[in-house]
Amino acid sequence: MAMQSRSEAETLHRCPACGVGRLHPKVVTERFPYDDDGAEVMVVAENVPVETCDNPKCAEEFSGPVAAAIRHEAICRALRLLTPSEIRSIRERLDLTQEQFTKLTRIGQATICRWERGRLLQNPAMDRYLRLIAASEDNVRFLQGQGQNGTPGTPAAPNPEGETHRAAALAAYIRGLPAFEIVTSIDGNYAHMGATLVDAVLQAGVKYETVVRPRVRRLIDDYPQARTTSGFAQLLKNPGPKQLLSWSGERKLRALADLTTLLLREQVESEDDFRAWVSKPNNVDRLRSIKGIKKKTADYIHILLGRQSVAVDRHLLNFLKMAGLEAHSYEEAHRLIHEAAGLLGVQPSILDHSIWRYMSSGVRSKA
Ligand SMILES: [Zn+2]
Repeated sequence: MAMQSRSEAETLHRCPACGVGRLHPKVVTERFPYDDDGAEVMVVAENVPVETCDNPKCAEEFSGPVAAAIRHEAICRALRLLTPSEIRSIRERLDLTQEQFTKLTRIGQATICRWERGRLLQNPAMDRYLRLIAASEDNVRFLQGQGQNGTPGTPAAPNPEGETHRAAALAAYIRGLPAFEIVTSIDGNYAHMGATLVDAVLQAGVKYETVVRPRVRRLIDDYPQARTTSGFAQLLKNPGPKQLLSWSGERKLRALADLTTLLLREQVESEDDFRAWVSKPNNVDRLRSIKGIKKKTADYIHILLGRQSVAVDRHLLNFLKMAGLEAHSYEEAHRLIHEAAGLLGVQPSILDHSIWRYMSSGVRSKA
């Protein structure tokens, strides 16, 4: 404090509590208990911006709306409730205004507004309701089909037994196709976690063609084992990221390591896994909690994965149609394929790609 220049002191606000000291901004980690329906939960809020008075007799601490929002989010995480930004992104993903979301859910618009602004904590039942809406387009369609008069519609949630029959029918259909081949590996240009992660992390602020593309290409060509997250993680250990990528910038390598660690912990091994994982709003926030992964990079990961999911989606849906098992949503198609894969004893991503190959190679016309 003694070293502080006069001009700096003048830019600091006077403490409203004592009227003597100056308020100094700092960023702190706060730990506080929160009562979760009788059980005490310890909340840890990181990077909370506060201002403290430098008068030792006062030492009052002040904080504003930014700190309040960070604390609210920390409480949400501690209670395993959706955060305000997660709730907003569920609504925005459906491309609905708050008013339209109210019509869909019958949750009051003021309530939705307060949740999204972090002024009100949703109860666990409402939290689950929101998660159901986020989980499946079928559930959204079900709510849309409820109509104005409140007549209950047909439950759109899949009948698990019926779906198992459909998966068995799909497996039988695949077994009966003479020209259908289960691929033994996935094409390098299609599913390569190492390439996706390197692309996503390196691209920000550099020339893509000359800086990113050659490194991604080389990784795909030289390191097939990096198709899985754990394979890529091994390479980050040995030979290490600097040698692997001919890259010396510490900041991006740090982000790459953190991202890889997070995905390993989440058991995200393939791009199919990653696509499914990243489609959940709270996981997007987890991505963005990594230092160096900003909104833009998180969106870019979506695009990197989404571009492929569209192609896969179309082929999967057409294949299911051919099998007489038309699916009404991406999720339903995915569940069917995954369950059929289990029945066929192959990995879902391998079956996905086998179907993709089958549909795109034209081999089916010879069948
Ligand atoms: Zn003071």
